[in-house]
Amino acid sequence: MRFCRFDDNRLGVVKGDMVHDVTAVLDDLPGLRWPLPPGDHFFNHFSALRPRMESLAAQVPGRPVSGVRLLSPVANPGKIIAAPVNYQLHLDESRADTGINFGTQIKTIADYGVFLKASSSLINPSDPVIVDRTDRRTDHEIELALVIGRTCRRVSEADALDYVAGYMIGLDMTIRGTEDRSYRKSLDTFTVLGPWCVTADEVGEPSNIGFDIHVDAEPRQKSNSDMLIWGVRKLIAYASDAYTLHPGDVIMTGTPEGVAPVAPGNTMHCRMDRIGSMSVVVA
Ligand code: MN
Repeated sequence: MRFCRFDDNRLGVVKGDMVHDVTAVLDDLPGLRWPLPPGDHFFNHFSALRPRMESLAAQVPGRPVSGVRLLSPVANPGKIIAAPVNYQLHLDESRADTGINFGTQIKTIADYGVFLKASSSLINPSDPVIVDRTDRRTDHEIELALVIGRTCRRVSEADALDYVAGYMIGLDMTIRGTEDRSYRKSLDTFTVLGPWCVTADEVGEPSNIGFDIHVDAEPRQKSNSDMLIWGVRKLIAYASDAYTLHPGDVIMTGTPEGVAPVAPGNTMHCRMDRIGSMSVVVA
């Protein structure tokens, strides 16, 4: 199943080019009182809501998904975990380009582990990425992103995929420089997830997903998740060894070679096998 958030916080099931409004199922979510439980409220209850989402989607007419304003498929991620230099050719380009490495020695993901992006950096795929530091290089990084569906801690690689709710296209926007990644990749608007979430059962094996990004008409990055140094299973196992993962937590799996600057006026056209495509404006 593919589901999206759209317009005024509506919930939709996407079939082909159509979106079916299933917002009514959100009435089944339990009420909340402060302090809120950990996790995203929707993903905490997704498995219970899913059958009614599917039955309602079969009953209500669809409308063209091209005519709605898509929102982030994850509304309230507790944390956004990301993988640095997780493709060999991106590691190679980072070591070769002083505009990326700033004179520092780029190590490997085994040295760095994973890092966290501020959840406040997350925007909707229909909103612009804001690039306003004209003295700094700001790059696109297209990445396979996943959202956790069940709370877990210290899961094995063998069991890791059981905890994935679904997959999305991710953009990990980055200013280059000497600061920590958590700073350079957490500016407002520097995380985009979309265009919708495709459930793990529909995506199937996540280690063979091709994807690419064009900036305007120019091809920039093109790769496949089969080139990941640490694959999806390893990233979940590694992250959950340090952090309890809650429903709604996001893992961005890292970007391949071809990172390059964007500027206001550009449009980033992203496409991923078995997920879809989205075009994100830079302003
Ligand atoms: Mn990245």
